[in-house]
Amino acid sequence: MYSSKISFTVLTLFPDMIKNCMSTSILGRAVENGLISCEVVDIRDFSENKHNRVDDYPYGGGAGMVMEPGPVVSACEHAKGLHPDKKAKVIYLSPIGRTFTQEIAKELAAEESLIFLCGHYEGIDERALEAEVDEYISLGDFVLTGGELPALAVMDAVSRLIPGVLNNDESAGEESFENGLLEYPQFTRPEDFKGVKVPEVLLSGHHANIELWRLAMSLLRTYEHRPDMLEGFKLEKLRRRALLKYIKDSNLFSEDEKDLIRKILDA
Ligand code: SAM
Repeated sequence: MYSSKISFTVLTLFPDMIKNCMSTSILGRAVENGLISCEVVDIRDFSENKHNRVDDYPYGGGAGMVMEPGPVVSACEHAKGLHPDKKAKVIYLSPIGRTFTQEIAKELAAEESLIFLCGHYEGIDERALEAEVDEYISLGDFVLTGGELPALAVMDAVSRLIPGVLNNDESAGEESFENGLLEYPQFTRPEDFKGVKVPEVLLSGHHANIELWRLAMSLLRTYEHRPDMLEGFKLEKLRRRALLKYIKDSNLFSEDEKDLIRKILDA
């Protein structure tokens, strides 16, 4: 069950990166409609010295600067105080975290409030992380300059699951990962683009056939791009039978593609 609204608090040294994205397009509309809120806390406001410095050289030597524990802990405590009635999880965006997926987005969309801690430079003093962080999330096996882009990616994926953030035209229901498959290809006008035509079934108005064609295309795409997702994939009996019958009579698939779909369904 997803939350009916969600409040994010982002702790960062670069507030504008967050503010700009969260006020644009679908997320901006959701903020205006009160479905999501996004408080941005500048960690630099909690600096403990007169030069507003928040980082220092790493003990033991090595390249780069490390964010000091004091300002990070104070910023986290301030963020927790913004929603004292709700126990907000503190998530540190970090390459050492579990890799973000649609499943994790669904888990997080059940929360009422979340706090994202964005590191920069060489990261954050370990003592602050131990004191404040509940969960570590990585965007993938690569290193970015800061946690702002991963925080935005997570907030975007979570927000679009909150009821009402997407309108019907933007519905999340049939998208990649929602049913264990990648999404089928999409087309819009013109019907003929430089000699390449939209598959005729999509112009037929025959909803059952459109659904079966899309399912077949989802299976082929998932096989081509993410075969790992097909492990353990099972189609419900009646749909499986309808799909087999549809591809048998269809001239939109080559014999090789038909064999491949049968092989996937029989696996
Ligand atoms: N020294 C750190 C390491 O080797 O794990 C990397 C620090 S990185 C240059 C600076 C910040 O970017 C990190 O503190 C983290 O917040 C963020 N970051 C970098 N890559 C990330 C990723 N793949 N997923 C999530 N956050 C990431």
